[in-house]
Amino acid sequence: MFDVNKIREDFPILERTVNGQPLIYFDNAATSQTPNQVIDVISDYYQNYNSNIHRGVHSLSQEATDVYENARQKIQHHFNAAQTHEVILTSGTTHSINIIASGYSQLLQAGDELMISAMEHHSNIVPWQMLCDRTGAILKVIPMDHAGVLDMNAFNDLLSTKTKLVFVNHVSNALGTVNPIEEIIKRAHGVGAKVLIDGAQASPHIKTDVQALDVDYYVTSAHKLCGPTGVGMLYGKEELLNHLPPYQGGGEMIAEVSFEKTTYADLPHKFEAGTPNIAGGIAFGEALDYMNGIGFETIAAYEHELLIYATAQLKAIDGLKIYGEAPQKTAVISFNVDDIHPYDIGSILDKMGIAVRTGHHCAQPIMDFYKIPGTVRASFSFYNTKEEIDTMIKGLQKAIQMLK
Ligand SMILES: *Cc1c(COP(=O)(O)O)cnc(C)c1O
Repeated sequence: MFDVNKIREDFPILERTVNGQPLIYFDNAATSQTPNQVIDVISDYYQNYNSNIHRGVHSLSQEATDVYENARQKIQHHFNAAQTHEVILTSGTTHSINIIASGYSQLLQAGDELMISAMEHHSNIVPWQMLCDRTGAILKVIPMDHAGVLDMNAFNDLLSTKTKLVFVNHVSNALGTVNPIEEIIKRAHGVGAKVLIDGAQASPHIKTDVQALDVDYYVTSAHKLCGPTGVGMLYGKEELLNHLPPYQGGGEMIAEVSFEKTTYADLPHKFEAGTPNIAGGIAFGEALDYMNGIGFETIAAYEHELLIYATAQLKAIDGLKIYGEAPQKTAVISFNVDDIHPYDIGSILDKMGIAVRTGHHCAQPIMDFYKIPGTVRASFSFYNTKEEIDTMIKGLQKAIQMLK
């Protein structure tokens, strides 16, 4: 049985106050909070076996290497990658995407086409624009409709044998839309294109099986799923990663170095130059254990209840408009009230201890599409409650009164 009050005891930050009020944290799409279980493995690392991995002959280094590599296996099993070395540990989604974008500089030709969707995070737009600048490739955009659903007919029309790569987020961080990635992957493979799925916003809610999806690259960040900041994953199919040139040169990523020639290490080390975030990688594995302990289906079902509950109450507010009403969505609600600036609402809610995000959510093209400067975004996690939503609604009503 899912007991939210018991779950909340795992998150020490939820006990604090902000501006004299109990914290209500509704900015989970930006970063999630961290349970004691994850905090404990980080402090255990620094207290008991802090040392560099993959190099030392001494016991501490071997211990750290074992625990770190064990975390990589946990990540592998969670996403069901076929091989442990298909899991590259990075500093996060942005880093993972840049590894791929950099590698394809040498694999594309002028006139090749890349495709993104109209609802991407800037980190899944800008690296591809830079790649187009370097190679002469052309960027195409899959449009969306007003509900925040991708236009799959337009996608079909855009796809051709010129399409080399397709990049789509699994879930939109600004709208909550869950995209039909199975279909996108299938159709893209039909013309010989490779697919990268940005899973940063999906992985806190959906357990993804990369083999079942047959996805070529899947990326995510630990800090969105109860893990620490500064660590994430690049999953790639072995043959593709072997073919891809390395991103950064340095220690750890080499087999042999001389001044004449350097040969690269095997996967995953080829893409892991330098000392990684060791405690972070270990904590990433622990965060997945923690969430699997609760169960992703349980988490998704509870969060969906919060979504339905909050959506109904928000819609009852005069002048409130929700952006993103896809039939399949996670517990993210972007909204505006009349022409009140989202920043003003966010500031007043903060005075009441309620943390929401305001602005363009690193997805300016979506805001341009709706012709708005930004939105207020409330995003829920499994440790939030209906009572917290009630408090937000009351706070919002008060804020609207003050601002009208
Ligand atoms: C958060 C997020 C990112 C960026 O993740 P970083 O950890 O900042 O690199 C990219 N895409 C989506 C959909 C996100 O939600």
